[in-house]
Amino acid sequence: MKKHNFSAGPCILPQEVLKKASEAVVNFNGINLSLIEISHRSKEFVEVMENARSLVKELLNLPEGYSVLFLQGGASLEFLMAAYNLMKVDGKAAYLDTGAWSSKALKEAKLLGEVDVMASSKDKTYNYIPKGYKVPTDVDYIHVTSNNTIYGTQLKEFPQTDALLVCDMSSDIFSRELDFSKFDLIYAGAQKNMGPAGTTLVVVKDEILGKTGRVIPSMLDYQVHISKDSMFNTPAVFPVYVSMLTLQWLKDLGGVKAIEKINKEKAALLYTEVDRNPLFKGFAEVEDRSNMNVTFNLTDESTQPIFDKIWNEAGISGIKGHRSVGGYRASIYNAMPIESVQVLVDAMQAFEKQVS
Ligand SMILES: *Cc1c(COP(=O)(O)O)cnc(C)c1O
Repeated sequence: MKKHNFSAGPCILPQEVLKKASEAVVNFNGINLSLIEISHRSKEFVEVMENARSLVKELLNLPEGYSVLFLQGGASLEFLMAAYNLMKVDGKAAYLDTGAWSSKALKEAKLLGEVDVMASSKDKTYNYIPKGYKVPTDVDYIHVTSNNTIYGTQLKEFPQTDALLVCDMSSDIFSRELDFSKFDLIYAGAQKNMGPAGTTLVVVKDEILGKTGRVIPSMLDYQVHISKDSMFNTPAVFPVYVSMLTLQWLKDLGGVKAIEKINKEKAALLYTEVDRNPLFKGFAEVEDRSNMNVTFNLTDESTQPIFDKIWNEAGISGIKGHRSVGGYRASIYNAMPIESVQVLVDAMQAFEKQVS
């Protein structure tokens, strides 16, 4: 039997997507060639790329004036690319430090200009989202991370700003409705909510580009990739194809609005148990809790072997917490069925029965 996969990333994908993807590896669309052995410039693959791009625009309800790219290098390369494309010579950017990924992002930006850390929640192992901080106006852009995968916190409100707004949405893109037109640049590694590792989604407002006054290496230049429709070099054909399948799956399900409702139900089910069950305590501040990554610890560490045995036997996989937080992290991305969340809740209740 297939396990209940709560991994943080790479992570669960819809079962029907995996099936279609595996078929395409052998015989793509009945053309008697594998998807991964045809030219990326073939009409078949160009169609995949175009379809993926238009699904992104449709699902995010993007207005005209945005480009959608499928690049390589992960969200980690976007830490640098965002700065390269938006930080002016002698420029300055402001970052909200809500976790390890935010701090890696700002470290790259420091290579190119001045970085103002607007606020940080590092003092409490990033278990909350800072609020009430001053948003500077004299910066080239503001950078935030919408969901902090490791700590299980999520931004419910975004900074109000006239500066450009950049967001790393790696672990919650397509999971909830937002006014995506408020963002000037969004990026996300595919492997949290969209597809296999190997491609990175970039959504960028065209008019913000080409204004830094710096020379940008070709592979790091969004305008180069836009002008070549994400085919400046060979794109990651398989990850792009699987991402397209996942986006199509999401569309068929009713889109972001429909999945948000399901995601809220899944998160409520699990957080209710974390709060009710005396053997667990939630890690993140309640008001900042993520609907994608649910982090919790044992109230009595010595009971760990008992709980670990129970969830293992229930066919659960991937709930071990990140080393910096300890305890458990259940990632309940879009593709996670509520039935699997119920299996985890049942395991937590069985654990309570056994211990008390
Ligand atoms: C996983 C993750 C990253 C890193 O993504 P890579 O694709 O591995 O570079 C960056 N930001 C967030 C929020 C993440 O969850």
